[in-house]
Amino acid sequence: MKVQRILPTEEAADLLDLVRDLTEGELAPRVAEFEANHEFPREVVRTLGKAGLLSLPYPEEYGGGGQPYEVYLQALEQIAYHWLAVAESVNVHNLACFGTATYGTRAQREELLPGMLSGELLGAYCLSEPEAGSDAASLSTKAVKEEDGDYRISGTKSWVTHAGYADFYNVFSRTGGPGARGLSCLVVPGGTPGMVVHEREKKLGVWSSPTAQIGFEDVRVPSGRLIGREGKGFLIAMGALDCGRLGIAACAVGLAQAAVDYAVRYAKERRQFGEKIINFQGIGFLLADMATQVAAARALTLAAARLKDAGLPYSLEAAKAKLFATDMAMKVTTDAVQVLGGAGYVADHPVERWMREAKLLQIVEGTNQIQRLVISQGLA
Ligand SMILES: Cc1cc2nc3c(=O)[nH]c(=O)nc-3n(C[C@H](O)[C@H](O)[C@H](O)COP(=O)(O)OP(=O)(O)OC[C@H]3O[C@@H](n4cnc5c(N)ncnc54)[C@H](O)[C@@H]3O)c2cc1C
Repeated sequence: MKVQRILPTEEAADLLDLVRDLTEGELAPRVAEFEANHEFPREVVRTLGKAGLLSLPYPEEYGGGGQPYEVYLQALEQIAYHWLAVAESVNVHNLACFGTATYGTRAQREELLPGMLSGELLGAYCLSEPEAGSDAASLSTKAVKEEDGDYRISGTKSWVTHAGYADFYNVFSRTGGPGARGLSCLVVPGGTPGMVVHEREKKLGVWSSPTAQIGFEDVRVPSGRLIGREGKGFLIAMGALDCGRLGIAACAVGLAQAAVDYAVRYAKERRQFGEKIINFQGIGFLLADMATQVAAARALTLAAARLKDAGLPYSLEAAKAKLFATDMAMKVTTDAVQVLGGAGYVADHPVERWMREAKLLQIVEGTNQIQRLVISQGLA
């Protein structure tokens, strides 16, 4: 990936060099095989964790990288450039650390964060349910406080990324009445009795990332695992999603940049009518538009990240970045298939996989219809 970047510090530039070396050395050679085998690359994710890349935006005090979001997102883009499923893992893990890092008490942060940020443990974020997707505030998983103070969770969570692999799960549950104010966030250790991981979903793409439903059958969790106060769950879930949407936008930029670079290389080699196809204006202009769209999405994403880094409101800008970058990635990866012609439609080249993968980004962490809803409400 040859992208000119202005980074805020020399440390950030060194970090991006490290990420490039690591992704080229550890991710690029493995992605095709793991995707084809539908195998979760737990060891690869662990390697990133050991290099500090699973916790870049979190405080150094607790073992995080202490990096601004602007830098974290560029690292994530580089990871997505080589392997979207691994970038998604990094993004989901960061979502799962958000509640404890932002709303945890000092004691909870001291107890839980070093493990979460060490790179060894992996997190999951359980908001969606079979009957509560876009309308997350209507979720029905219950957490009932027992006489001994423990919570007992029962219900079903759907679409859980890292289901069965995560070491800790943020489980958003109803502790109060209906609506957003009745929700709370509990951190549940993986393997707690009563957690039943269902069969893995058979997806259109991102096959190496495990996604499954989890049943919670009277799962007991100590009250010390309640993050924030009772009733704060929706606020925590939405705060995490604001960050996560920036992450998804960065993933979309990385994926689309990979598609542009691949399509350009192909178009410079493939000849028809005695010419390199890049010299046909129909292809050259298509590639020009693709490259421009990626650059625009990157600029929008980093502009939103800089607002967050400055402590300014950024939710609406995160929604715009997620919407624009993921729609862009869908179009750019589809156009990359077109540039390769028949070769683009078969698994000999990665562009068909990237096109399948791009679709996911328009759906997760709030569909693009929901982003438009958020943006339009912000305009009203
Ligand atoms: C591979 C994968 C991994 C995922 N990982 C996780 C995870 O780790 N944790 C987690 O909690 N969730 C996860 N999700 C769930 C994801 O966030 C939801 O799929 C998403 O929020 C949409 O919910 P839904 O699928 O129930 O669709 P629905 O909410 O049923 O929506 C169906 C359609 O209706 C549209 N729609 C709904 N409401 C409105 C409205 N008000 N206005 C206009 N259109 C509307 C939607 O945009 C969509 O097109 C994952 C999903 C997938 C596919």
